[in-house]
Amino acid sequence: RDNLKGVNILRFTWVGLDGIIRSKGAYIDEVDDLVKTGIGLTMAMMSFTPMDYISPYGTFGPEAEDVFLTPDLSTLSVFPPSAMVICDLYKGGSPWEYDPRSTLKRTITKYSDFEFRSSFEVEFYLVKDRRPYDDAKCFDSRAFYTNTIVPEIADTVKGLGINPLRVIKEYGPGQYEFDILHKPALRSADEVVIFKEVARQVASKYGVEAIFMPKPFNRLAGSGLHLNFSIWKNGKNVFYDKNDSLNLSDLAYNFLAGIMEHAKALTAIAAPTVNSYKRLVPGSWAPTKITYGYNNKSAMVRIPTPYPNSAEVDRRIEYRVPDPTTNPYLLLSAFIEAGMDGIERGLRPPSPTNENAYYKKDIEDIPSNLREALNELKKDNRLIERVGRNIVEEFIRVKLAEVEAYESYVTDWEYDTYKGV
Ligand code: GLU
Ligand code: MG
Ligand code: MG
Repeated sequence: RDNLKGVNILRFTWVGLDGIIRSKGAYIDEVDDLVKTGIGLTMAMMSFTPMDYISPYGTFGPEAEDVFLTPDLSTLSVFPPSAMVICDLYKGGSPWEYDPRSTLKRTITKYSDFEFRSSFEVEFYLVKDRRPYDDAKCFDSRAFYTNTIVPEIADTVKGLGINPLRVIKEYGPGQYEFDILHKPALRSADEVVIFKEVARQVASKYGVEAIFMPKPFNRLAGSGLHLNFSIWKNGKNVFYDKNDSLNLSDLAYNFLAGIMEHAKALTAIAAPTVNSYKRLVPGSWAPTKITYGYNNKSAMVRIPTPYPNSAEVDRRIEYRVPDPTTNPYLLLSAFIEAGMDGIERGLRPPSPTNENAYYKKDIEDIPSNLREALNELKKDNRLIERVGRNIVEEFIRVKLAEVEAYESYVTDWEYDTYKGV
C-alpha cells in the first residue's frame, strides 16, 4: 500500500482465453485485505468472448461458482494515475486448471531442470480518429522527435523493470515496435501484459490509442508479436553449439522439430482472432509457410543472425506467427509443450529454407483462417494432453463463437462487391 502513491485504485488483472486484459479494481482502503484474500470472480469469465458475451458453447454460465483472483505481488506495477497487479486464478485454494497463467506455471514446473527464456517484439499502431497517428516511414528519424508518446512509453516501462532494447519505427505510418530483453518465460509473458497497459495509458493521455490488433488497416503492414526463445541450464544457453552451421545444438533442433510438428495447432493459439489471418499474407514479413531458415523473415521460424560478440548468449529461435492478440501465457505454455514433445521424442526438423518462402509450392501452408486453425488444434491430441485438455477445449469453444459471429456478419466489402451481381 505504501507503494501506491498517486493511485487510488489497484487493478487485479488477468488475461482471459479471449486474450482481453481484464481487471477488477480494489479501492485503496481495501487493498491490504484484498491482497490477502484475493477477489472473487465468476468462472463464467473463462467462457467470455471478445464480443463480451458468454460463448454459447462455453462450459461456464451465469450460475457458475466464483474463483479467486490471487495477486502475484512480484508483478505489482505502479504507473500513476493507475496501478495493476497480475493475478492467478485459484479454486478451492489451488491453481485453477482453466487459468492460462497457472497453466504456464505448471508447464514450467514440469521441466524444472531447464530454464526457458523468452523475449517478445511488440508491434502496434498509434491511432487517432481511426487513422495512423503520423505519416512517418520505416525507420524514419522524424518519428523520434515529433511525438513524445513513444519515449514516454519507453521510460515508463523501464521504470517497471521492463528493458526495452530497441525502439523501431515500423513499416506502417504510426506503427512502432519495442524489442524487450529476454527473461524467464513467465516474467516475459507478464511484461507483454504490462507493456500493453502502459502503452494504452500513455497514448490515451494524448488523445491517441495504442492499437494491438494484427491488421488494423487495409494495405498497411500488420502488427506481430514475434517470440524469441532459448533454453538455459546452469547459466548457459543450451541452444548454442559453435560447431553447427546455424550455431544450433541438437537440443535446439529437437525443440524446433516439435514446433514444426505442431505448427498448425499452435497457429490457433498464436494467431487467435479472425483478424490475425489478414496479417499472415505473402510479402508482409509475417509468415505463411511452415518452415524455418537462417535469418529468413518469410519463414515461420527465423534463426536470426547472431550478434558478433554475444553469439552464445544470443542463440535463439524466433517464432513469427504470434500477434499481440494472443494470450501470452497460453502461447508460451503451448510453445514449450510442442518443443518439449520434439525433445522427448528426439524429432529432427526437415531441412531449412534459405530463400524467400512465400511462393514456394512445395512447403505446407500455415492455416489460412481461424476456423481452419481451430480444427487443426482440435485434432492435435498430443499437444492438447500436454497443455491440459480442459483449458484447450474451452479455448476452442470460446473462439468458435467468435468465428461464427464473424462468418455470419455482412461486411461493406461484400455489399460493394456483390450488390450488382
Ligand atoms: N510486421 C511484421 C509482422 O507482422 C514483421 C516485420 C518485422 O520483421 O519486424 O510480423
Ligand atoms: Mg518488426
Ligand atoms: Mg522480429
